[in-house]
Amino acid sequence: MTAFDAYIESHRQAFVDDLADLLRIPSVSADLRHAGDIRRAAEWMVSRFKQLGLTTELFETAGHPLVVAESPPVPGKPDALVYGHYDVQPADPLGEWTTPPFEPSIRHGNIYARGATDDKGQLLTHVKSVEAWLKSGEKLPLQVKFLIEGEEEVGSVHLESFVAEHRERLACDCVVISDCCQFAPGVPAITYGLRGIAYYELKLSGPRQDLHSGSFGGGVTNPAGALVSMLAALKDANGRIQVPGFYDDVVPLTDTERQQFRDLPFDEADFMRQLAVDGTWGEAGHSNLERRWVRPTCDINGLTSGYQGEGAKTVLPARASAKFSFRLVPNQDPAKISLALQTFLEARVPPGIRMELVDHHGAPGVVVPLDSPYIRAAAAAIETGFGRPPVYIREGGSIPIVNTFARELGADVLLLGWGQNDDNTHSPNEKFSLADYQRGIRASAHLWQELAKLPA
Ligand SMILES: [Zn+2]
Repeated sequence: MTAFDAYIESHRQAFVDDLADLLRIPSVSADLRHAGDIRRAAEWMVSRFKQLGLTTELFETAGHPLVVAESPPVPGKPDALVYGHYDVQPADPLGEWTTPPFEPSIRHGNIYARGATDDKGQLLTHVKSVEAWLKSGEKLPLQVKFLIEGEEEVGSVHLESFVAEHRERLACDCVVISDCCQFAPGVPAITYGLRGIAYYELKLSGPRQDLHSGSFGGGVTNPAGALVSMLAALKDANGRIQVPGFYDDVVPLTDTERQQFRDLPFDEADFMRQLAVDGTWGEAGHSNLERRWVRPTCDINGLTSGYQGEGAKTVLPARASAKFSFRLVPNQDPAKISLALQTFLEARVPPGIRMELVDHHGAPGVVVPLDSPYIRAAAAAIETGFGRPPVYIREGGSIPIVNTFARELGADVLLLGWGQNDDNTHSPNEKFSLADYQRGIRASAHLWQELAKLPA
């Protein structure tokens, strides 16, 4: 057993006590009444980093402060940057908590408090692993930097510009983020890809005002009818998106990836039961996980037109609009999709209808190649920490900060979730398993060792 492993074993309780200490600070970023608590949490982070002898700085922003800390550079070794957040979601509804959200309580091996898993507990695993190296008298084998923000739960408003302005200071070979989940209890995972997004609003207008459908119906194009047929044209019966060139840049799934997804313990019947649906549907030729993780999709997010009140009203609406979005996969370019979509829809505007397409926001997807040496290092560390190798998963949603790091720092981003899907993040009775906390600390400590074996 290495000295740092021994330190982690003997400090199990001290690590839990320190986590409880941080959890007692109600650092709710959305609520200005907690501005003082937010600052207290930022200063708590500063004090912990200083106790470890790290070069530490608190940066003011127009919102909540950011904390940056770094251990000494180790020439010839890669640099790692840990990102996390000390802010938490509001605790409401308070009445649904078994114990108060900011009085940490331990039950059945879990610690219950707002922020337990998202993200104070997961974030601290990396602080404690660095502590284990330094306090057990070992030399940290690579440089570890920390970037801890206080606005993650309110959209990371100032993070992107901060990263862009401090590119040199934050420069690293890989970014480590533990703010997500394992695949299932006892099945640790590395999330190596995220989907991007392209979000639109289609607005159609027809006659000057709503018309009597008896007097005018049949004589003019109904904007609501035009809207549904234009939206329906976006996909064919096999779930394939019909916009020309849409799939041009999609990188096909490798056989290894397909096999890996097939091997995951995923039960379609269970999935249907969870959602209370009697069937599933999606792009032909792809499994459920593939459809949600690695294939692009198109979904209508909202529809508005005509009479929505009680009873019947024989109206021919003057306007109709829809919000819809594509989930994009890595390598698809939202700007290119927007152009192709505009042309596709314009060609389908029926006579008597004017169209406006609003481009709301877009972000590309990201993927870290499975043969990245950083992924291999993380896999080895997780196997040591959790006692079994991780599975490799993707996530269908987008995490804007991951795009920011990939773009601004050019670093591979390692998403190493120590949480569980039922940890109640953002909900009452948020928890974090103390066993996973300890395993996460061990995995993190070994990650520094594994990464240090790689060339800079
Ligand atoms: Zn979080």
